[in-house]
Amino acid sequence: MSDDDNKPLTRKPLGLKRSVDAGEVKQTFSHGRTNKVAVEVKRRRKLVKPGEAAPVEAAPAPVEAAPPPPPPPPPPPPPRRAPDGETPQERVARLQREAEEDRLRQAEEARKRDEEAARKAAEDEKRRAEDNRQAEAEAARAEAAAPTEPVGDEASSAEPAPDNTAPDAGDQAGAAAPAPRRFTPVARPEPKRPEPAKRVEDKKKPGRTEDRGPAADKRRSGKLTVTKALNEDEGRRARSLAALKRARERERRMHGGPSKPREKQVRDVVVPEAITVQELANRMAEKGADLVKALFNMGMMVTVNQTIDQDTAELLVEEFGHNITRVSESDVDIDTAEDTDAPETLKVRPPVVTIMGHVDHGKTSLLDALRGTNVVKGEAGGITQHIGSYQVKTKGGDLVTFLDTPGHAAFTEMRQRGAHVTDIVVLVVAADDGIMPQTIEAINHTKAAGVPMIVAINKVDKPEANPQKIRERLLEHEVVVEAMSGDVQDVEISALKGTGLDDLLEKIALQAELLELKANPDRFAEATVIEAQLDKGRGPVATVLITRGTLKRGDTFVVGTESGRVRAIVNDKGQQIKEAGPSMPVEVLGLGGVPGAGDQLTVVENEQRAREVAAFRQAKATEKRTALAPTNFDTMFAGMKSNVVEFPVVVKADVQGSVEAIVTALHNLSNDDIKVRVLHAGVGAITESDVSLAAASKAPIVGFNVRPNPKARDLVKRDGVEMKYFDVIYHLTDEIGREMAGVLGPLKIENVLGRAEVKQVFPAGKRDKAAGLLVTEGAIRKGLFARLTREDVIVSATTIQSLRRFKDDVEEVRAGLECGVVLADTNDIKPGDMLEVFEVEERERVL
Ligand code: GDP
Ligand code: MG
Repeated sequence: MSDDDNKPLTRKPLGLKRSVDAGEVKQTFSHGRTNKVAVEVKRRRKLVKPGEAAPVEAAPAPVEAAPPPPPPPPPPPPPRRAPDGETPQERVARLQREAEEDRLRQAEEARKRDEEAARKAAEDEKRRAEDNRQAEAEAARAEAAAPTEPVGDEASSAEPAPDNTAPDAGDQAGAAAPAPRRFTPVARPEPKRPEPAKRVEDKKKPGRTEDRGPAADKRRSGKLTVTKALNEDEGRRARSLAALKRARERERRMHGGPSKPREKQVRDVVVPEAITVQELANRMAEKGADLVKALFNMGMMVTVNQTIDQDTAELLVEEFGHNITRVSESDVDIDTAEDTDAPETLKVRPPVVTIMGHVDHGKTSLLDALRGTNVVKGEAGGITQHIGSYQVKTKGGDLVTFLDTPGHAAFTEMRQRGAHVTDIVVLVVAADDGIMPQTIEAINHTKAAGVPMIVAINKVDKPEANPQKIRERLLEHEVVVEAMSGDVQDVEISALKGTGLDDLLEKIALQAELLELKANPDRFAEATVIEAQLDKGRGPVATVLITRGTLKRGDTFVVGTESGRVRAIVNDKGQQIKEAGPSMPVEVLGLGGVPGAGDQLTVVENEQRAREVAAFRQAKATEKRTALAPTNFDTMFAGMKSNVVEFPVVVKADVQGSVEAIVTALHNLSNDDIKVRVLHAGVGAITESDVSLAAASKAPIVGFNVRPNPKARDLVKRDGVEMKYFDVIYHLTDEIGREMAGVLGPLKIENVLGRAEVKQVFPAGKRDKAAGLLVTEGAIRKGLFARLTREDVIVSATTIQSLRRFKDDVEEVRAGLECGVVLADTNDIKPGDMLEVFEVEERERVL
């Protein structure tokens, strides 16, 4: 293997389907400011070189021999503190950000000084001009001045400088308008941009009069008469008048008092911990755009839809002359944990049972048998896709609520969620198949949730069934059944023949009794969403499990970020009922939107409260999304560090539960080399926007029980988007897994062959350094890949360029011996560093 062959290992793997280098990063800063930065590696590379990047040198050496491209362009004023745990990349990013920001600030200050001077001059002129005209047209002018509005003024002042990076920024800024600051040069990340401050100065001198209009002209002529103004050419005149008005307005304001003394109503504005600009504007009865402008003047680039924090909101509220009433989360949101029921109000409730087990071990069949219906036939691929829930009456007359959790590992997350509402788990193990991966998973989840388990050994009707073996094998997973003198109940059943079912129900009832399950039925209901979907005819529908209280038709509620009013309650038999008590699974109609599985439904006293809580949660959700941006930022660096390939997909499915299950399953396919990136996941048909999103990212669309609508179909053809339709989750994961393997190319396996410690470093040749090594393990061979680590941080990944013992070149040096090496492409070697050498084997990949 030559050095050239070796190197690609340290770089990005081949076959990169979608670039991880480019993209848009949303950054969040203090005061809720966020910024979108387009990131491009090619340009970023330039960032490192120039002077301001000096600190980069000081930063810990890059992790890879081929240095990962430095981080994206400098965003706005950063907090100056240096977080302890930052990675070199983060540090570089921060330093550059700071440098850039400093420059911008200086430029800004310079420009402001400039503008100030220009404005003063202009105002002097104007005052003089006005004095002159005063005599001739006093009354007329008074009228002309009247329509001047503060809004118009500010708007026009903000207008000329939306981009101070433009070449004419200097001119614009010169035009007496305070150029608001623009923080991050979006999609223009070159740091070596000419400094705006300088440019302002340079441009100021020549050609000024043209743009500056009346002010400059006036300065030359000494005064401006009406005739003169009229003689100006058309375009300039229009502008001049406007500029005049603005200048006059500004002057007036400088001498105190607003131009249009508006009777302002002072309001008490309730501000939660996070609020969108629009919502704050509504509460202040101000225009959203005005708030944005005010924020802009404070140096914050936000849109009305963005969320700001309470402190920023306070500044705004004060700026607009209102009073702020701060409220915290606990003032608004519902904390159900706080509200406990007195022991005397509690009544016995049915147990909620979740059936878990490996695929095809008979979970659905068991539920069918218990219910006396047959659901199993209609299912795609025979796998349970949606959580269904039913209540079953035991012989003794007790009710048991069953949640059917789907049988494949893809539903792990739902299963985990199920465990929160679940009182008892029935673990189905097929006696002819034994303990399988999902059986073990189910055991682990059950244990983690601290939920008691009953083992149902199924398919005992089969001749090859060996229940005793199951009991023994369960011991390996620390499940000791009663027959093995443990305390886990077990029961032999045949879901097919219907044997042992009464026994099972009895054991469930016994277990429930031990658990003393109780809830207060006489209160506002609380429930957990098990499944939710958008129903064509009925609108958003949620299957919920009542956890306490009684849900009644007409109740107002909040569920997740949605509010609603119970229009109808449907029980497990499809009948409309008026109310539902604890442990009952029911469908609820009348939701404002589709909630997520696992969301809490809480009945509240009135609609206003419901809306308030829902709005609050929505704002929080938005905030969370924006707050997630830095994480993405980090992930991006992490990705660059470890050469992770991203595999983007768009997921659409028929119901929310499937969406979540698929997303989880896809994420589970990710490993250190390739990560699934779900660009978008949602419920419903595949739409044009899904297709364009997929096309833009060269991502396939995964449709689960859904198809594209006609318009989307056309787009699919036009853009050549790859479509994948499935109705069974494990087919989906199988295929995506295979595709991901293809994207990655062959698997590369590292075999570490030796380790050595750097004892000393000495010069070798003109430029290189050689390291004196003691081989501690295995052997070192010429040409092998090598990784140099310093305190367990990889300093460089390289190859052994030459290997010597005493004065002779050798091919190999074994453990216990000393040798000298020169590493390819690196001289960053220090005594105490560790060297690890390895070879790389290529294999076909299976995910
Ligand atoms: P799930 O994936 O765990 O929900 O399993 P299913 O309920 O879909 O059952 C998978 C297969 O096993 C079906 O073909 C059932 O007919 C079969 N099966 C389930 N229970 C029994 C049983 O007690 N005895 C026999 N012989 N077959 C069963
Ligand atoms: Mg099933």
